[in-house]
Amino acid sequence: MTYRIAVAGLGHETNTYADDALGTTGLDRFSIARGERLLDLRGQNTCVAGMIDRALEVGAELVPTYYAYCYPSGTIEADAYATMKDELVSSLRAAMPFDALAIELHGAAVAVGTDDVEGDLGAAIREVVGSMPVVGALDLHGNVSDAMGAHFDALLGCHLYPHTDLHERGVEAVDLIVRMLEGSVRPVTHIEHLPMLLPTSTTDPGHPAARMNEVCAAIEARPGVLDCTVFHGFPYTDTPLVGVHVVVTTDGDAALAAACGREVGTWIWSHREEFRPEVLEASVAVKLAMQSDAFPVVINDTSDNPGGGTPGDATHVLRAFLDAGLEDACFGMIKDPETVAQAIAAGVASTIDVRLGGKHDSLHGEPIEARAYVHSISDGNVTLTGPMLTGVTLRLGPMVRLVLGGVDVIVYSTGASQTFDPEVFLLHGIDVRRYRYIGVKSSQHFRAAFAPIAARIVTADSPGLTSQRVEVFEHTRPPGPLWPVDPSATYA
Ligand SMILES: [Zn+2]
Repeated sequence: MTYRIAVAGLGHETNTYADDALGTTGLDRFSIARGERLLDLRGQNTCVAGMIDRALEVGAELVPTYYAYCYPSGTIEADAYATMKDELVSSLRAAMPFDALAIELHGAAVAVGTDDVEGDLGAAIREVVGSMPVVGALDLHGNVSDAMGAHFDALLGCHLYPHTDLHERGVEAVDLIVRMLEGSVRPVTHIEHLPMLLPTSTTDPGHPAARMNEVCAAIEARPGVLDCTVFHGFPYTDTPLVGVHVVVTTDGDAALAAACGREVGTWIWSHREEFRPEVLEASVAVKLAMQSDAFPVVINDTSDNPGGGTPGDATHVLRAFLDAGLEDACFGMIKDPETVAQAIAAGVASTIDVRLGGKHDSLHGEPIEARAYVHSISDGNVTLTGPMLTGVTLRLGPMVRLVLGGVDVIVYSTGASQTFDPEVFLLHGIDVRRYRYIGVKSSQHFRAAFAPIAARIVTADSPGLTSQRVEVFEHTRPPGPLWPVDPSATYA
């Protein structure tokens, strides 16, 4: 028989510490697709695209409903969340009857007055759809709550960081739904919470999170286990939901799910010290890069990663590039609409005096005062071609390539984005492989496209809203003592 599978989504990674610098997040910052417009999202490496592609592939009748997404930023305003929740739930009600729902969520969305957006949304969805299969596909940075576990039949998190497996998780969500509808599986989920704040940890080979994934994969291969995922959690959220969460889904065996969750939890807890990052100030990171005997060296600014809700205009790393007198260097990218407007007004091939970046707060550094040559101007539309979010187009507004000393700097004006792949450089005529030093603003996602071309990667961790020094973020309502902040944290 042909199943009718509804697809929806509401995604936001909320950095509650960004509210002061960036303000809360209003409805105007969300990109929203309704009904048939969801089909425009096909062909991208995202969960929702995987759901749509798979539903059509298996011959299901696709019921596209409502999808809202916003790049990471401060707390969602209460009325913005209320509006989106209402429209999502209403669109489901209007689309009834259908047999199941596949939904993309992030897992770390926080609204004013609602700490657990996904749990709250899950309850509202259940009221409308009843007991039919409802399966979520999420980002591994979700802070997964017990309420989420109660309202969704399964929560499939991406396993990789960089998140190059989002489409796969969307596919998996639909496959699980079909098996449920056929009556061949009955998912039961256990969520194991660990009292720890995990610094951003890549799952690339050789890193501890890669071994953590091997432990999960071995468990997932056992009879009766449908899925085993470690949600790294999002430490830049001041709610009682922060932590690391192991989510295990089995076929009807709650005891097995709990036992597997404890097994992974015990492995993570006993290996936690391996996840402590090496923290280098920007100037130290640049010095280290200069000592490399192979190039290019990629220097990533992990503490101003707009992919975690930061302003994107921190100057610490770019200043270190300039202070060190680096030649053959490029830096992408820094947000500064005023400087972009100034450069466009002056025109290509002109020289201007800029006050670049550092305009949100003092944490992310002071503006850089320098002479800059205006090399080129673009519309700032960047379609990603690397393994991360392949096919997604970033619209970053008017953009310029400036030259400050020996550094080519890309400056953009709207939205906020980390540097996912070299496309933003190519848009301005820069082939990064010809440079010795490549500066990017990103914590880990840049690795997907830059690791294959980098002779070496050096991480700079200056003050910023996504510093890997998770202990500097004050958690006023923790679920209990948290490693590595509180030495009394224990996992029983
Ligand atoms: Zn993530």
